[in-house]
Formats: sequence, C-alpha cells, structure tokens
Amino acid sequence: MIVDSHCHLDFEDFDDDRDQVLASAKSIGIEHIVVPAISSATWPRLKKVCDHYLECHAAYGLHPYYIDKHCHSDLDKLDQWIKREQPVAVGECGLDFFLKDLDKNKQQEFFEAQLDIANENQLPVVIHSRKATEQVILCLKKYPSLTGMIHSYSGSLEQARQLIDMGFYISFGGAITYDRASKLHSIAAKLPLEKLLVETDAPDQPGLKHHGQRNQPYYIFDVIETLARLRNDTVENISHITSSNAIALFSL
Ligand SMILES: [Zn+2]
Repeated sequence: MIVDSHCHLDFEDFDDDRDQVLASAKSIGIEHIVVPAISSATWPRLKKVCDHYLECHAAYGLHPYYIDKHCHSDLDKLDQWIKREQPVAVGECGLDFFLKDLDKNKQQEFFEAQLDIANENQLPVVIHSRKATEQVILCLKKYPSLTGMIHSYSGSLEQARQLIDMGFYISFGGAITYDRASKLHSIAAKLPLEKLLVETDAPDQPGLKHHGQRNQPYYIFDVIETLARLRNDTVENISHITSSNAIALFSL
C-alpha cells in the first residue's frame, strides 16, 4: 500500500481526466491521498472531489503563497468549515519567504491563527515552508501538543531532527529524484523511516523522469524508489512504513 500524503487533486489540471489519474494511482497501490486546500474559494471544489473519491481526504486551510487572496473573515470561516466537515488536517498553511513580495507579517499572522485552529480542533497541520524553516520551528514551539507534516521538506538535517523531536513528520516528493539534490539525499538517508512521509504535490513538483510534465500520484513510485536506493532499503518497506505513518498521523 502507498499513501500520497500531499496532492492537489482538486486543481483544474485534473478536471479532464481525474478518473483516469485515480485509476492509475490505484494500479500501483495508492489507497489514500491527502488533498490540502489553498484558499477559501477552493474549499467547495475540494470537498466535492473528496466526497466523490473515497480515497481522497481533505485538509482545509489558507496557503501562504496566496496570502494576498485571504481576508480575516476566512479564518472564522475556516474554523466553521473544519467543525462541520471534519477534515483529516488543517492546511496547507505555513510560511513562504522565498518570494519576496509576499507579506511576511500577514503570513505569520495567518499561520499562527491556523495553528490555533488546529490546536483547538485537535487536528494535525500540513505545513508549507520555503526558506522559512527556522521561523516555522519558532512558531510551532508555542504549540507543544500539535503534530503534523512538513511537506516537500527543504530545511537542514538539524532542523528536521528538531521537528521530529517536536512530533512532526518530514515529507519528501519529486525534488529528491534529482541528481543535484545531494543535500536532500543525505537528509533523507539519515532520518528515521518511522518519521517520513512520501508525496507528489501534484500537479506541481514533478520528479526527474517527468520534468516539465504535469505531476500525478502515479509518479510517487519514483520518490519511493529513490528513497529505497538512498536508504539501502526495499521499495516494499518504504511504501509500507510511510503509509503506516500517514495513516497514524491523519487517522485514515
Ligand atoms: Zn501543496
């Protein structure tokens, strides 16, 4: 069994062939897909996808990349959606300091508000962190009982260990399939498998073999194969343990 712990299957990119995409995912043993939200405007379509395809599990949240689109009333709305829809997580939320024109203070405010919501509703969080891992760790320290995943991990080994000690899972996607990703390779080889997840982040972040194409859950096999090679482990064991981790984290 395989779990794709982070995939935007509700995006329009899949409107023409979602059935097929899910059928090919199923053909390699993908039994669960966690589908995180990006903005309040997309929650209804995400709900529709997850209601229709039982292997898809919704997370609701406000993505930092779209910070300009979010307004304060979205936070109240989010709490209401979560109480009503009972998603598997809050997210994706987080901090993106890579793009300079995204308002840092507003990001920080919306991230902490979503951590509050997750904390109150006793849900894990799906975290987006780009060039912001130090700041993400600082924020998470205020919530000692919170758990979650850092999706498409890009921090240091030391930071990953810190996050694991704080109860978080580290998730790897297509980025680790590139030969040049030597820093990620050594991190992925050293962390305990019991704290790792695999994801595609489809339709974004395709791996080496599918560079320039639309990513899809089926391609998660390349991520698992790379992890197996880096860790001197089997594809079966990587699939088995990362699936168990996702099932435990998201109560699937
Ligand atoms: Zn994402």
